[in-house]
Amino acid sequence: MLNESVKNVKGIGEKFAEDLNLMNVYTVEDLLHYLPYKYDVLEILPLSELIHEDKVTIVGRILYEPSLNFYGRKKSRLVLTVDVENVAIKAVMFNRAFAKKQLNAGDIVTLTGKWDAHRLQITVSNYRKGAQEDSTEIQPMYSVKGDVTNYRLKKVISQALKDYGDQITEILPVSYLTDYKLPARKDAVEMLHFPQNRVQLKHSRRRYIYEEFLLFQLKMQLLRKQHREATEGNAQEYDVEKVDSFIERFPFKLTNAQNASLEEILLDMRSSYRMNRLLQGDVGSGKTAVAAICLYASLTAGKQGALMVPTEILAEQHYQSLQELFGELANVRLLTGSVKAKERREIVAGLEAGEIDLIIGTHALIQDDVLFHDLGLVIVDEQHRFGVEQRRTLRDKGLHPDVLFMTATPIPRTLAITAFGDMDVSQINEMPAGRKEVETLWVKENMFERILNFIIKHVQSGEQAYLISPLIEESDKLDIQNAVDLYHQLIEFFPPEIKVGLMHGRLPADEKDAVMKDYAENKIQVLVSTTVVEVGVNVPNATIMVIYDAERFGLAQLHQLRGRVGRGDKQSYCILIAEPKNEVGKERMSIMTETNNGFELAERDLQLRGPGDFFGRKQSGIPEFKVADMVHDYRALETARNDATFIVNQELLTNDSEYAKLRELLETDPDLHTKLD
Ligand code: ADP
Ligand code: MG
Repeated sequence: MLNESVKNVKGIGEKFAEDLNLMNVYTVEDLLHYLPYKYDVLEILPLSELIHEDKVTIVGRILYEPSLNFYGRKKSRLVLTVDVENVAIKAVMFNRAFAKKQLNAGDIVTLTGKWDAHRLQITVSNYRKGAQEDSTEIQPMYSVKGDVTNYRLKKVISQALKDYGDQITEILPVSYLTDYKLPARKDAVEMLHFPQNRVQLKHSRRRYIYEEFLLFQLKMQLLRKQHREATEGNAQEYDVEKVDSFIERFPFKLTNAQNASLEEILLDMRSSYRMNRLLQGDVGSGKTAVAAICLYASLTAGKQGALMVPTEILAEQHYQSLQELFGELANVRLLTGSVKAKERREIVAGLEAGEIDLIIGTHALIQDDVLFHDLGLVIVDEQHRFGVEQRRTLRDKGLHPDVLFMTATPIPRTLAITAFGDMDVSQINEMPAGRKEVETLWVKENMFERILNFIIKHVQSGEQAYLISPLIEESDKLDIQNAVDLYHQLIEFFPPEIKVGLMHGRLPADEKDAVMKDYAENKIQVLVSTTVVEVGVNVPNATIMVIYDAERFGLAQLHQLRGRVGRGDKQSYCILIAEPKNEVGKERMSIMTETNNGFELAERDLQLRGPGDFFGRKQSGIPEFKVADMVHDYRALETARNDATFIVNQELLTNDSEYAKLRELLETDPDLHTKLD
């Protein structure tokens, strides 16, 4: 059986099995699916096609007895002269004195190593007696632990394939194999371990990638379905007329994209399933307005609403604007970590009694003693900054609240359908009319004085600026010190009528409040800050954003910071001060200057940095695939996604015996807690 211990494979003893356990290989099945992390392709090319300093493989006949020299204590140098295409090639091997016995004049050898085209010389890293059978040889490379070597691992995998290979049964319906021209499951596994040629490798990889994606997407689609069907009775009967007149309160007309997203969300709220939706839109695209309307809709259905945001500044800002917007329509309260105990008790009681209609807050909202009377809608802003657990806690507070996640980090399509594959997605892909594009410049540090003069000029004509202070370490303390230093430097540099403010995460909430308020009222013209102003903050009169050490930020974060300006009708500027050390860093700065479109930027950032880095370290929920790479293999991902949607919608897993194997496999997944029937 495939699920028996690896110890049952011939050639694996106690110690070997223990080392395999270190590699998370416990069963025969684990062993068979322990795949190479890369393949070295040894291809024998004509001498004329070898590239200087490349790793190459050549085959030739040894011309003379190799010469061996010792130097230092244990070091040696073995030199062969090899005839390749009637050219005498010098081959140098370091510290392989033992090879002298094996290699004699007249022998044919295959040598792999670094090629020096000028001296016609190869520095050998690998050698073998005899010629390579095919002109191309593919060597799988496994990552190994303990005493396990690639050689030993290949041997036992080969043994396992011989004794257990027939038990690797097909899980895909036959039509998929023929339609997509995929090799059978067993063949694919075998060829991934022992590929004979590139074509085989390519097709077996293709098969494995598709299978990984399909299983994952099926799981996501099933989860989505389970979410939707898990609850009944949260159909929020909101008052359409009231909602319409609420929309009239805004001083602007909603964009088409806002209207479309709003409709999708309201439809979810009206229906009986639990909404689990992601609303994404670039900074300033008007998500908050949509959120406010949805919260209001929930109130007209007699329910409470909650808005959770990542920082206190943002919570306070939302609180103020929502209070203004709702006026007499709702009892809106703010709950953050800095609310005093007495007021907090009062708020907690008010929420439980249902006297508070709408609560805005930070993590403080998800503490155990915060209970709701009847929570209808939860909106989580900048949701990628919250852990999966925190999101779940809030969602589980009410009976079955509808949940809307909002993000201004445009999530590339590939990530949206993997990391958030179990969600529905609404997208605001259009900016309110009349916005001027922010002009982005990338400069070196020696331009700093010119930048300050540029700021003075604009401030004197009534505008305001942000300066994001240098990032030295990812440590709060040093960053704050930087902000403080810069703040003093600027006070000295600027004429006295230009007021400079300082903002960072360690300031007490009331001071932060006061600073932001002064900035919003233009009592402060230049705000020096750490990245705490990153999200949400809205001061339309600010037109200049200067970011120090820009190369140290992710593009998504830079884009967020840039989004703090360009909110009014004046031309705005984002100035990136950066001295990137490598090409990728330079490329990233250039991208920032080339596009203001968050979605485009996100795609390009993803391609440059890979999915792991995209959200920063906090992000969880990005699945790991063995072979598949969701950026590189995005087409397979989309195909698998479409197929999974079809399979789930048509209920093929339960209705069609061709899908029985897939179903069996999915039912072993601990996340899909219920049986599929
Ligand atoms: P987001 O939350 O997506 O960053 P906001 O909702 O804060 O964006 O909107 C940014 C600014 O644009 C706010 O000042 C808001 O009042 C304004 N705004 C929102 N929607 C529109 C619209 N349809 N037309 C004009 N201005 C709008
Ligand atoms: Mg609903």
